[in-house]
This record gives sequence, structure tokens and C-alpha cells, in this order.
Amino acid sequence: MKITDVKVISFKATTRFSPTRWGYGVWGEEHDEVQRILKIETDEGAEGYFTGGNTYFVPPAPEVIERIVKPMLIGENPLDREKLWQWMMGHRGLSEAVIGVVDCALWDLAGRMTGVSVASLLGGYRDRVKAYASTAPNLGSPEVYAEHAIECKKRGYTAYKVHANIYWDPEKEEPAPGKPAFPEADLEICRAVREAVGDDMVLMLDPWGIYTLEESLYVGREIEKLDYYWFEHPMDERKTEPYRKLTEALDIAVLGPEMEPGSLYTRAEWALQHASDMGRIDTNFGGITGVRKALGFYESIGMQCELHVGGFGNLALFGSTSEETCEYYERGLLRPDEDYDAIVPPYLLAPCDLMDENGYVSIPQGPGLGIQLNWDYINDNLVYG
Ligand code: MG
Repeated sequence: MKITDVKVISFKATTRFSPTRWGYGVWGEEHDEVQRILKIETDEGAEGYFTGGNTYFVPPAPEVIERIVKPMLIGENPLDREKLWQWMMGHRGLSEAVIGVVDCALWDLAGRMTGVSVASLLGGYRDRVKAYASTAPNLGSPEVYAEHAIECKKRGYTAYKVHANIYWDPEKEEPAPGKPAFPEADLEICRAVREAVGDDMVLMLDPWGIYTLEESLYVGREIEKLDYYWFEHPMDERKTEPYRKLTEALDIAVLGPEMEPGSLYTRAEWALQHASDMGRIDTNFGGITGVRKALGFYESIGMQCELHVGGFGNLALFGSTSEETCEYYERGLLRPDEDYDAIVPPYLLAPCDLMDENGYVSIPQGPGLGIQLNWDYINDNLVYG
């Protein structure tokens, strides 16, 4: 079997999410944006697809695929995932996010042609995973977060993660990019949430990398008193030494690196340096093949690794790992004014991450990654050129 084509299918889809000029996203008016699906075709009719189901995993612009990926993959056996992964990782013109999308589509192809889920191909372990409610940032006052956390608990979530004031001045209610952050205001939110949900809900805090070391030490010690479970990505991850100091100083589990490139290699370096207590990665850092290797490393040294964001690729990895290594699925980002359960992207026939009333998300049973594409919608909204 040989790969005959690698295509990017572009189409319009509505969204309420837009990036700001400082790089982070905000919620606003509904508008159209270009969404993409990656498709791999073979001479034997087998096909593989990947799309994220959210903005984080949008496949790359067609140019990168045409210029680098297609010449590399055409004529190759799509089942040689390891070889193709090594080739892609060795090409400095490809980001780990692009490699991730292509690698996930190769896994999807293998699953579709054999009629099993990617979780089964990897070696099935479980068919559901505990989820935490992951808030959008800048939701408002501590009371808004507290009420939202109670709603999430009623919905079945057993864990809740706060994204508090991210590049946002809560007093002036206006963007505040750069430093300083607002650790006092963030802590008010953390306290209000703990008080609202009681002692039995698992809580986490993610300052999205905007604190200094001093702020991180201060906030970390305060949320230890509130019995928070982990303290995620509090500082810029390009500097490892402050993380090593923070991890040594705090009792609460420091979690990272989330956004650092380097796939499994960076994760191993951080672990060897004791720069965090729990690891982090997702399929945007080298695909299922890269993440699976990282998870094997974490498992072998007895370290937890909590997968970043949701998505079809991550769910397959959850399906093939134990809770001891990967405990929680990140569901969101959630907002009080929006029913996440009711939102299915128009180009999908079924949502990615259905959650039951006990707070468990089911692992798609395939075939492949379980992406069910709505071809009527996609064909009606195609974007050419
Ligand atoms: Mg995070």
C-alpha cells in the first residue's frame, strides 16, 4: 500500500473565538473562519483524516503540506508511522504541530482500514476517562467563578480548573498584556471557588505562564492551603531554572512543560532536572507517536503526565494508558454563558468528548480516531485556493 495524496480540505465554519493581537483568544460575536481537515489517500482506497474539533488543532495551511509533507509521504507505506515520524521530526521546516496533525491522520488511517479504534491499535486500557472542567480565562468576579464551579459540580464534574485573570486587569476590566499579573485577584477567585464547592472537589490553577518566580512562590503557597491539586504552567517555560526552584520550594505539584517545543525530548530534560512534579504534553507536540513515547518515559520513572487540552488524538492516548500516568481529560474551555454540551462543530456529526453525569468522557470507539465528518456541511462551505 502506498500513499497517493495528502490534501488539506478548507471550508468555512462559524466560531465565536478570535485571537487578540497579544496572541491569546477571546470570546465574541459569531463569525466565519476557515477550518481545515487533513486527508491522506492511498492506492488501496484506505483513507485517514485529522481535525481537532477545536481551534487548537487546525491542520496547517495547504502550502506546508504541498511543499514539504506531500513530497516526503507520496509513495510511502502509511503503516510505516515510525519511519515517517522520524523523517518529519528530522525536517527543520516542519513544526511539531504540523507533524502532529499528519501523524494523527496516519493513525486514523490504520484504524479505519482495520476497523478498530486508535486506542485499540495502541493497546486498549480503558473506555472512559475522568474529566475536569477547564474554565475560559477572565470570566469575571470571584462570585462568577464560584457559581460556575457549582454548576459544573451539578453537571457531574469532579474536578475544576481555574484560568483566572490572564493579561486582564480585573479592576479596570481591560486588557493588560505583559507584566505585572494580578496574583491577589487570582487568589480571591481560588478561595471563592474552594469555599463554594467544598472539600471534595479536585481543584487546579493555571496562570497561563504569566507569573514571575516570586508571584509563583506566593500563589503556590496560598493554594496549597486551599488544597489545590496542581499548579500548572505558572511561568514562562523557556526558562527552566525558575521551575526547578519552584518545584523544590512548593509542596503542591507543579505541572509542566505545556507549551515548550521539543516533544518527548524536552519532557525528558525537564523530568531529569526535576523542573516539575507532573509532566504535560499533547498531540500538537509530535502527534500520537511522539506523545506515546513521552508517556512511556513518564511511566517508567513513576511520574504522572496530564495531557493538555482535549481532542481526538489525546482521547486515543487516554484509551491506551492507565490513570496512574494520565489521570484527567481537559474539557473546555468552559464559560457560564454557554452550554458546552450542546455545541457540536457544524462539520462534525458527533461531538469529540461526550461526558456522562458522573464526569467521565467516553473514548471514541472508532474506527480510527472516531472523527465523524459532516460531508454535506463541508462540501457546502468549501473554500478554494
Ligand atoms: Mg494550561
